[in-house]
Amino acid sequence: MKTIKDMTLREMEDFMEEIGEKKFRAKQIYGWIYKGAEGYDDMRNIPKALREKLSSITEYENLKTVKVQKSLKDGTRKYLFELPDGERIETVFMKYRYGNSICVSSQAGCAMGCRFCASGINGLNRHLRPWEIAGQILEAEKETGEKINHVVVMGTGEPFHNYDNVAKFINLIHERAGLDISMRNITVSTCGLVERIADFADDFPQCTLAISLHAPTDDIRGSMMPVNDRYSVGDVISAAKAYADKTRRRVTYEYALVRGVNDSPDCADILAMRLKGSLCHVNLIPLNEVRESGLSSSKNAAAFRERLERNGISATVRRELGSDIDAACGQLRLNNG
Ligand code: SAH
Repeated sequence: MKTIKDMTLREMEDFMEEIGEKKFRAKQIYGWIYKGAEGYDDMRNIPKALREKLSSITEYENLKTVKVQKSLKDGTRKYLFELPDGERIETVFMKYRYGNSICVSSQAGCAMGCRFCASGINGLNRHLRPWEIAGQILEAEKETGEKINHVVVMGTGEPFHNYDNVAKFINLIHERAGLDISMRNITVSTCGLVERIADFADDFPQCTLAISLHAPTDDIRGSMMPVNDRYSVGDVISAAKAYADKTRRRVTYEYALVRGVNDSPDCADILAMRLKGSLCHVNLIPLNEVRESGLSSSKNAAAFRERLERNGISATVRRELGSDIDAACGQLRLNNG
């Protein structure tokens, strides 16, 4: 059976014609889906006969909200959702001065095994379908009653390990008849799957690319991120530079500062040297401590930032949201079923 929520508007239009219906029905249905309709019966301007027909030949599923946690510090919310097959995923909603932002998961679990991150501790369970990624936005909009205008694919999972579904997800939420989220307001973060970075430059030149770099040398990066055995620091930075050259978009490098591992003045100097001359920005994140990792947070964020800036590299220290509900970077895990 076809899953209607995985169809782009174009695909839905073709599908309507295929089943002998008027093409304009697709736009109506698409609109309902992204208004958060629970099923065909919510779609009041769709004739009953068509609703019944669609129910019998397509699948219409929703995410189930298992739990919502609200930060008392900053209004951040963390959602625990259940997928139709029982898998569980987490999503974070954040309020900023410029609007509402959501951090979505792209996989249930993660195969990358970064030492500092809680999301990969149990490995990868499975890729998310496009609608399962988009559904996180729908449910959060419904629960908060607010419109979400910024999306970061930085929750659990490596988005470029699930490239095709993430690409389709971006197209689904960009569609005007649905959520109408601007490409410029979508950021995808990767641990550095080089071939997919090149694909992303071709497919989504208007989105923002974030690279989880976390270290300026292969020795240090390799000690924290197994993926570095396949894609070295040099390879990842070259791919990101090519992306910036091609798209004229600034690349964000994420760098979690770990005490005694990657937070020395030397590290800042080497990093600056390697990034020099490219269109980029460094986002420093004081490590959010994850019990199992044995790594601790650095106190050097301000000094590290200053040193990068003095070397001509723009850098900021990321404000931490949602730490009181374990919703900060690297803390998403399923310890709260
Ligand atoms: N797999 C993707 C997206 C998910 S992680 C990626 O690697 O980019 C989102 C960001 O949080 C990444 O930069 C990740 O490296 C970072 N992160 C993971 N664990 C962290 C931790 N304990 N403290 C701070 N940042 C962390």
